[in-house]
Amino acid sequence: MNIEKINKTSLTNIIPFVSKYKNLDTLAKSKLAEFRNIILAQNGLFLLCKSNFGYIVEQIDGIRYDNSALLPIENTPIVKTYCDPLPDLSVFNQIIEIFKYVHDKARTEFLLNVYFDKIYRTYIIDIPEEQKITSASIDYKSTVEYEKDARYIKYLQIHSHGALNAFFSGTDDKDEKNKQMHIYGVVGNLDVESISEINMKFRIWSGEKFVNIDFNKVFNAPKINLPHKFIRKIDQIIEKNKSIIKIDKAIKKLDNFYINGKSWEKTISFDNIPEDLLLWQQIS
Ligand SMILES: [Zn+2]
Repeated sequence: MNIEKINKTSLTNIIPFVSKYKNLDTLAKSKLAEFRNIILAQNGLFLLCKSNFGYIVEQIDGIRYDNSALLPIENTPIVKTYCDPLPDLSVFNQIIEIFKYVHDKARTEFLLNVYFDKIYRTYIIDIPEEQKITSASIDYKSTVEYEKDARYIKYLQIHSHGALNAFFSGTDDKDEKNKQMHIYGVVGNLDVESISEINMKFRIWSGEKFVNIDFNKVFNAPKINLPHKFIRKIDQIIEKNKSIIKIDKAIKKLDNFYINGKSWEKTISFDNIPEDLLLWQQIS
């Protein structure tokens, strides 16, 4: 019995990561890969789940497997979305404004879905009409028009916790496991004046566990590389301050020892404090 025959009768496919696939993109696109697949790789067994959203690869813990005839899979968990480009920051700002509006007016949680339009390659924020909202929960039905139309890929489901912190509750855990593959987000601390104090979390279910996703992997907020002239200048200042930084670190260490009730005199020697340190004014 060959693997293709075995896979035909199984819900989870088994795929050896052989050299003809070259990389995970081609493996995920191959017709052998179904929604849920176990990948045999050079360095272990991996779970690959795929959908129209993209694919996620995660190592299966607790099973030792190595096979030098296969390709390796590095840097897991890997989350790859076919929704490209990622949504702009304007989408995020609009989501926050909606949540703030609801919070100011009703002091309740609220839920939104963000869909990727495959034709225009843009994003649509949808407010599901059917939501029963309270200060601590939401019962909802996503909008059928978007859910059933192959033109749209569900990219993100995000809900607000109002003035509470952004965390995934036990109810969220149950609701966000083993469903459609897309990103889940939660936003909290909406009572603040400045948008910079709002907190949020993003994650996706890998088929095995939740994988946290950074904000700049959810929205198109590329990391800014510092210009070399800044880096050179900052490094020079740090270099010049090396002796002071050393002392500062030592004093912090000393504080800890003092708090722990131990004799701090034994943990640091003041013999090597540079003389010019005494000339400096301190600000903190
Ligand atoms: Zn929640």
